[in-house]
Amino acid sequence: MEYEAVIGLEIHVELSTRSKMFCGCRVEFGGEPNTRTCPVCLAHPGALPVINRQAIRYLCRIALALDCSIPEVSVFHRKNYFYPDLPKGYQISQYDQPFAVDGGLETVVDGERVRIGIERVHMEEDTAKNVHAGESGRIAGSVYSLIDFNRSGTPLVEIVTRPDIRSPQMARAFLNDLKNTLLYLDVSDCNMEEGSLRCDANVSIRPAGTSELGVKTELKNMNSFRHLEKGLAQEIERQKQILEEGGRVVQQTVHFDVATGTISALRSKEEAHDYRYFPEPDLLPLRIGAETVEQVRQEMPELPAVRAERYVSEYGLPDYDARVLTSDRQLAEFFEECTGIYGDAKKVSNWVMGELLAWLNESGSDLEGCKATPAALAELLGMVDGGEVNANTAKEVFAEICSTGAAPAEIVKEKGLGQISDESELEQLAAAVLEENPKQLEQYRAGKEKVIGFFVGQVMKKTGGRANPKLVNQVLRKKLSE
Ligand code: ADP
Ligand code: ZN
Ligand code: MG
Repeated sequence: MEYEAVIGLEIHVELSTRSKMFCGCRVEFGGEPNTRTCPVCLAHPGALPVINRQAIRYLCRIALALDCSIPEVSVFHRKNYFYPDLPKGYQISQYDQPFAVDGGLETVVDGERVRIGIERVHMEEDTAKNVHAGESGRIAGSVYSLIDFNRSGTPLVEIVTRPDIRSPQMARAFLNDLKNTLLYLDVSDCNMEEGSLRCDANVSIRPAGTSELGVKTELKNMNSFRHLEKGLAQEIERQKQILEEGGRVVQQTVHFDVATGTISALRSKEEAHDYRYFPEPDLLPLRIGAETVEQVRQEMPELPAVRAERYVSEYGLPDYDARVLTSDRQLAEFFEECTGIYGDAKKVSNWVMGELLAWLNESGSDLEGCKATPAALAELLGMVDGGEVNANTAKEVFAEICSTGAAPAEIVKEKGLGQISDESELEQLAAAVLEENPKQLEQYRAGKEKVIGFFVGQVMKKTGGRANPKLVNQVLRKKLSE
């Protein structure tokens, strides 16, 4: 039987507000443990929470970007459970009246546009962090555990998708686009390694073409795109096998072991939590006025999809270029700034998508670690047009700019990469090449004109790739017709 995967994601995003959700302590990653705490986030008796206005504005940006409806009133609840990293014994979280509902985000998979529904977007607070002492850093095998409350009370937004995702690749593409959107919104650094962006994946399978949902399992805390995709693929395989052997999938949390690439299903019987939700008595319901929503809407930065459309209409770029360039806010800004100086958008796009992305890939660096400025690329492209350096050598020069930040003209001068446009010098080289390759010369004379390409290549080789190829071509043609 053919099966179809059904996937829904629950994503947690730590907001990059200055202060925590319900107190004035600073939000920051790491640092000396327990230095950013107060009676509120340590849950001292009698301490009262106060809602962080900026966090709500960030939340509102996210809700708008995800095309959600925002009811006028949302309510904070207490979600009760015991865990050492939860000093109050409950987490303040929105429950049956979340901040925003019914949205969606478009993503592209295999060139096809799909809209993934967003069920809800709500506000909550992050927990503290258990630090397990011992070699593995995990609870298993640890000698003792300590608690760092610096993270306790960090504003946390939960985004829940509809079960609209149909493959591990689609899950990855969606999460990538969501992350990119959040980065555009400037609401989180989305650093998955530091836990600012975390994803739980729910997955079930069903006979292809049917509409009833199968029993789902949950993969918790997938902390990279790659792990998410691999973990889901693995879990889908596991479920298929169970069904093919006539078994039943049990609703449970499963663990994807990144090191071995295997799924372990902890037979923890249907764990139906009862969190005893009730409205937080220390907070009033949250009312967001239409004016505030409108204000936030006005302040919204241009989102990737809109920006991509603009690149097509304003710069005349192909859809593909527009999507690649806007897939990263910094990359888009680099492109725009460079085009602003240099003018030819398609050429800049080619260089950004080709040379810049290649350098980032090879160096494993992000744009922040790249020393090339848009102005430097613009200058280099100008040098190519002016015949000071040829296009191929310019690629080398650009890689050097990326690593060192040196000025293009300086690199060209220092390394002697300047284009050779001296005709008499090229003529000598051309003559030598013809002499050294009598067989090809004979072919050319016999009418095989294409051989000229070979001669050009040989001259380029003699100059270490620095000759002006157009001129080489001219000089050779002249020589060959003599
Ligand atoms: P729970 O009550 O177990 O938290 P929810 O209904 O709140 O489940 O859904 C949690 C996430 O799981 C959502 O992203 C949703 O889209 C997804 N989901 C729900 N049912 C299924 C299913 N049968 N298969 C795959 N994903 C599902
Ligand atoms: Zn505090
Ligand atoms: Mg749920």
